[in-house]
Amino acid sequence: DAKNSSKELKSTCCYCGVGCGVVIEKQSDGTIRVRGDESHPSNKGLLCSKGMNLHHTVNDQIDRLLFPQMRYHKDMPLQRVDWDTALERTAAVFKTFIKKYGPNSVAFYASGQFLTEEYYVLNKLVKGFIGTNNIDTNSRLCMSSAVAAYKMTLGEDSVPVCYDDIELSDCILVAGANPAWCHPIIWRRVEKHKANNPAVKIIVIDPRVTDSCAIADLHLQIQPGTDVTLFHVIAKLLIEAGKVDWNFIESHTDGFEELRDLVLTISVSEASDICGISEDYIYRAAEYIGSANAFLSMWTMGLNQSVVGVDKNVSLLNLHLLTGTIGKPGSGPLSLTGQPNAMGGREVGGLANLLPAHRDLNNPQHREDLQVFWGGKTIDSKPGLTATQMFDALNEGTLKAIWISCTNPLISLPDVRKAEQALKNAKFVVVQEISSKSETLAYADVILPAAAWSEKEGTMTNSERRITYLPKVNRPPGEALSDQEIFCRFAKKMQFKGFDFPDAEAVYLEHAQLTKGMNIDISELTYDILRSNRSIQWPYTEQKSTPRLFTDLKFYTNNKRAKIYAASTSLGSEKPDDDYPFILTTGRIRDQWHTRSKTGKVNKLNQHIARAYLSIHPDDARELGLRENDIAHVKSRRGETSVPCKLDKGIKKGVVFLPMHWGKILNSDLNRTNNLTNNLLDPISKEPDFKFCAVRIEKF
Ligand code: SF4
Repeated sequence: DAKNSSKELKSTCCYCGVGCGVVIEKQSDGTIRVRGDESHPSNKGLLCSKGMNLHHTVNDQIDRLLFPQMRYHKDMPLQRVDWDTALERTAAVFKTFIKKYGPNSVAFYASGQFLTEEYYVLNKLVKGFIGTNNIDTNSRLCMSSAVAAYKMTLGEDSVPVCYDDIELSDCILVAGANPAWCHPIIWRRVEKHKANNPAVKIIVIDPRVTDSCAIADLHLQIQPGTDVTLFHVIAKLLIEAGKVDWNFIESHTDGFEELRDLVLTISVSEASDICGISEDYIYRAAEYIGSANAFLSMWTMGLNQSVVGVDKNVSLLNLHLLTGTIGKPGSGPLSLTGQPNAMGGREVGGLANLLPAHRDLNNPQHREDLQVFWGGKTIDSKPGLTATQMFDALNEGTLKAIWISCTNPLISLPDVRKAEQALKNAKFVVVQEISSKSETLAYADVILPAAAWSEKEGTMTNSERRITYLPKVNRPPGEALSDQEIFCRFAKKMQFKGFDFPDAEAVYLEHAQLTKGMNIDISELTYDILRSNRSIQWPYTEQKSTPRLFTDLKFYTNNKRAKIYAASTSLGSEKPDDDYPFILTTGRIRDQWHTRSKTGKVNKLNQHIARAYLSIHPDDARELGLRENDIAHVKSRRGETSVPCKLDKGIKKGVVFLPMHWGKILNSDLNRTNNLTNNLLDPISKEPDFKFCAVRIEKF
């Protein structure tokens, strides 16, 4: 299958956005082994526990879906059918809804784990041919606040830095992230850099003491939700101390005066009270940042998954724009992508408000260019339904059909019982999956078995804009097909033209053609170049990869100047009260990935932490009469869960933490974290407020 005939094939890990290179050794019995690829610049041979155990997820096929299944009525059992029958019936149902209720009556909910080619084909199918923008992915739950902030400040969704900037930096700020657990190979590089250069300052902002704090010079144990105030008061101290780059501000930014006028009204003592951080620590953070020649920031969901996620992002980006630490070696914002190919999805415009190659949905010329290129329908100017909005629309009855692929919303969406009700209410549900254990299957009218990692060919882009080629190493089991093939076959059943791609490379080349002349230009980049160079950072022009953006200090805005935003400090999250006095924050643990359809199969990974737990400060636990391993009943205004307690002196008092990975166990959902979380969304990014909801806790 693979163009490389060797038994060793180079690929990329399919978990987090670090995008580590792996070497897959194919054994004579068809099983594989995986090791780190020393030739890959992102990880230089290192792998974390999840990457090291990747082969188990492929070699153990016991839970795989093997053939399409379908039912004609909700009260009928699913039965095995062939691909033509499943896709013809699906096309017939979709055509009926589209004819009767219009194209916005159907929606596609996809995944940041898709290969770029799969994203491209689906986006083309939905926006270009069905005629709706109702395609969104679980990246909405992950990076959409960062995407919006990059567009607002830098003009486009463009991560300016590369991982090699880590070793060139002398101050690294980590906000709302625990990379020691969630982006471990990047963190190994930070740890090594700090060990070799003790003068390098590491600042960690997190309501919990995490493993990432072990090398921190300063841990700012922030009150959840108050990051904007913290970034603003640091900005104020930088301005007052003259530790800003006046020339950069003057020559390359707009909006400084509004920010200055706002932040100068915030006193350090007021910020200290709001953020729950000592004044001394705030001064020290400003001192470290202001004294750095090369300042790098990293962040993930603590900033993004918030009702004020975009405000948090722009106010962090302000610190780079004030200090001129962007476009320079060792400096700039590095948003750590949660999923392996969220960036690739953004490149092809695979969200409800985006178009391919960073074109703008609001721009009539961009829409027309695409329509002409694709030869399809007029592209709607109105953004489609985002992830949570799709499930709301199913509950309201305005959305009739949903096609879910490569993601399990019944664990990962906020207020997940509402999402479950939505699937019960849906007129028609298609589930495209690898695992027979996904909770979504119980609501499916059609089940389509998909190929998994290493069973299909394509590309992915990691957190540093690095595109890597992934070969097909194994055949998918049974009748499973790649997501790309499934979407193309469906498009043909819908009688759409333009989906006769002979292979993944043909899809890739069409996508690459659309980038010509754009800021993410990869029109000259082929699979052969990717295979021979191992990986390339976009844009790729004049046969050169681009490690760092904005070295000429010309941004992607119309006037080439970056925009400083004076974000509001209002919180917007659900308010704790006497009934629900604790703040719940959620997140990942070291050895599990998302909804565990892969990592949950690996015994070694389950040994780290085997089940959901509530992390609670011992003082709070004592007041509630809870001891280690007692079952805590956690309740919010939406639902409840019951899990054992872990007493943790490192968590802020009044704040509790639950990992997000677990769903139903033995048909009971009393283990499911997202029973509790709420549907509040950032008004711009539509990203949910996963990191903040009010709960009460009782002994079970
Ligand atoms: Fe995979 Fe991320 Fe671990 Fe690298 S750091 S091996 S990409 S999970």
